[in-house]
Amino acid sequence: MSVPQGRRAVLAGMLALAGAGLTAGAAPLPEDLWPDGAVLRGEHYVVVGHRVPADLLDDLAVRAERARRRVAAIWGPVRPVILFPETDAEAEALAGAGATGGLAAMATADRVIILPGGYARLSEIGRDVVITHELTHVATGATRGGRVPMWLSEGFADYVGYAASGLAVRTVAAELAAEVRAGVLPARLPGPADFAPGAVRLAQAYEEAWLACRYIAGRYGERTLVRLYGSDVGTVLGLTAADFTAGWRDYLRKELG
Ligand SMILES: [Zn+2]
Repeated sequence: MSVPQGRRAVLAGMLALAGAGLTAGAAPLPEDLWPDGAVLRGEHYVVVGHRVPADLLDDLAVRAERARRRVAAIWGPVRPVILFPETDAEAEALAGAGATGGLAAMATADRVIILPGGYARLSEIGRDVVITHELTHVATGATRGGRVPMWLSEGFADYVGYAASGLAVRTVAAELAAEVRAGVLPARLPGPADFAPGAVRLAQAYEEAWLACRYIAGRYGERTLVRLYGSDVGTVLGLTAADFTAGWRDYLRKELG
């Protein structure tokens, strides 16, 4: 079996930006969403499908439980509610999001919504990564209304998402590795504009964020990375932003150069 190279290959249509979702609202109970829906209720998860083939919904339930355990191991308990609508349009309406072409899943404040079109194009590993990534957003509250920088929100979701994937760093971060090998290092951590849909270096922005979190976990410990969420590098790591950025750039050079 060939190993998919790079974030684009692993995740095909890319990840949903949490920005579209994460709106808290009076969402109906999963069971009440669709009169003709199918509900799979595990001890720790609820998966609801709307006219989704039974084998595909069963497969999603297995992945929901796997993702739950991965998030719990690093962050803490979370109870996945995952909705698998019949169409992308139905998913967008559920999330209150606009056009989501190419995305595979979205997170709202309390649930993960599958986008059937993008999800169908994902690799097996990519499906687990995406569901774990989005479930991490649900567990952490993503950017918490902008109080958590996007590199940390997206990087941490990928850190949890890829933690058990078994993929090599250069495989996941193939796009960024090509730049680093060519002698180009990013000058700063990615910001909101770098994560905008259609951004030219969108894959690299995710890879930069992921590797910033991987750097912190590797050098300072995974618990420190978790503590950083909702705090800042000065308080938790005792570093200036400039020193942290310099350490991260060295790490990129070592891991990808
Ligand atoms: Zn995300």
